[in-house]
Amino acid sequence: METLYRKYRPIDFDTVVGQDAIIKTLRNQIVKGSIAHAYLFSGTRGTGKTTVAKIFARAINCPNEINGNPCNECPTCKSAIEGTNLNIVELDAASNNGVDNIRKIIDQLEYLPRDNEKKKIFIIDEVHALSGSAAQAFLKSLEEPPEHVVFILATTDPNKLPETVLSRCQKYSFKRINIESIVNYLKKICDEEKIDIDEDALTFIAEKSDGSMRESISKLDRVRAYTSSDKLTKENVLDILGIVDDDDFGKLAKAVNETEIETAIKILSDCMERGKDISQFTNGFIWYLRNLLIVKDIKEPIETLNITKTNFEKLKSEAELISKDVLIYFIEELSKTVNLMKYDENRRVILETALIRLASPETNFLESAVMARLDNIEKEQREGRVYKVIDKVDTNLKSENTDEKKGEEAKEEKRELKLTPVTMEEIEKVTDNWKTIAASTSKIFRTVMMDSKPIPGNEKEPGFIEVQVNEKGTKFLKKFDNYKEIETALSNSAEKIISKNIIFRLVLSDDKAYVKNTTWKLDDAYDKINMNVGEE
Ligand SMILES: [Zn+2]
Repeated sequence: METLYRKYRPIDFDTVVGQDAIIKTLRNQIVKGSIAHAYLFSGTRGTGKTTVAKIFARAINCPNEINGNPCNECPTCKSAIEGTNLNIVELDAASNNGVDNIRKIIDQLEYLPRDNEKKKIFIIDEVHALSGSAAQAFLKSLEEPPEHVVFILATTDPNKLPETVLSRCQKYSFKRINIESIVNYLKKICDEEKIDIDEDALTFIAEKSDGSMRESISKLDRVRAYTSSDKLTKENVLDILGIVDDDDFGKLAKAVNETEIETAIKILSDCMERGKDISQFTNGFIWYLRNLLIVKDIKEPIETLNITKTNFEKLKSEAELISKDVLIYFIEELSKTVNLMKYDENRRVILETALIRLASPETNFLESAVMARLDNIEKEQREGRVYKVIDKVDTNLKSENTDEKKGEEAKEEKRELKLTPVTMEEIEKVTDNWKTIAASTSKIFRTVMMDSKPIPGNEKEPGFIEVQVNEKGTKFLKKFDNYKEIETALSNSAEKIISKNIIFRLVLSDDKAYVKNTTWKLDDAYDKINMNVGEE
């Protein structure tokens, strides 16, 4: 069966979709008879470069050109359509990139066009793929082509072409085709082919083809192969093409961001049960997150993303829920995951591990993870959650204090009461149980606390345990006004272990009480404590 793409490939300029400006210029040149020696068509796959090159080549030689269009009826046009016209030579440099291939072309340049046609036209596809020596040989011909020669070069990667080539061509940049145009064209095909399919499904196909008409049509072709008597839905398309729905990715992103590990794993497992491919899933998720990032940061995202307005609005509201730093962190981590998956058979395990790690940012103390946590904190602060916790601590203190005395006086006395020197035994217990004690702080501080070191407080304040926070931790904590919440949590947790209320005080790395490379030695601690206890 003929593929839909071949069958519906445009044969004149009127039916080319989405490249209006380029088409207009080329038609004008035909009408005026002002044809250049070399053209360069660049653009992503499936945007119509080769199709337009073929139509343009026919139009150049067609004696009955109509408004810049080839007539497609005369012997010149007909032989060109059948691929037997000797004045149109095509070379796909992707598969024929050697110097010999280009020599064959160079050798033909001198001969005049046959059958009294105007020009000899050379279409070289993927011209950037020519080998070094081939490109070198070709460049000479391009510098001084005979009067009767026209080159039409096409490339997906113009950056790989030397300036010497670029400067000799009229350049045309093919845009990705917008969703609406693709959907309309797909509809037309479906009408003629009697394919019964939801518009939703067509939009989905178009969006998943990244502005490529060829890709869209070939997806439709694959879906058509499964046509039953029923109407094809978006669900069918998802299943047949093995693509994961953005709805699922949206839910997954939300779950991971809100540290809902169970939900995240369930979404993955549901998708796997529906037969989705794990690599495609991972890449799809990264792409989805990238779209969220673009929605946040780019001025005209609809054009960049090439999606419908409805889906843009949806994406936008989803993007508002996750911060930019978190998104960058997710994308970076998942990209590493994709690499890991290449070398390991347990791809699902790797992805699950990654999702769990992302959903528990306190397990990772990378810069971006810190930023991710910081963002969450800021957000929570905006929503008043953290303040509430801190306020609560304050209120507790106050209410205890107002029992008998008032204000500073009461506070002082309360503090006095607590200043029972810490014993060596207590310090050791705190150190031995530090992970547990640190884990009692709220999630966002946990990693910082676990990385910090408890040491006996200085001589003047023997009732304290100092928690030495390293530079990284300090950088993170600096964003907060006070550390009461942390210190209270440490104190409460330690009390359960040593049955005594000890005050913990955080010492940041820029505090003069900070001890670099804190590995407190037992002897020093004994000295300190003996000194403290001695006063008792
Ligand atoms: Zn013709």
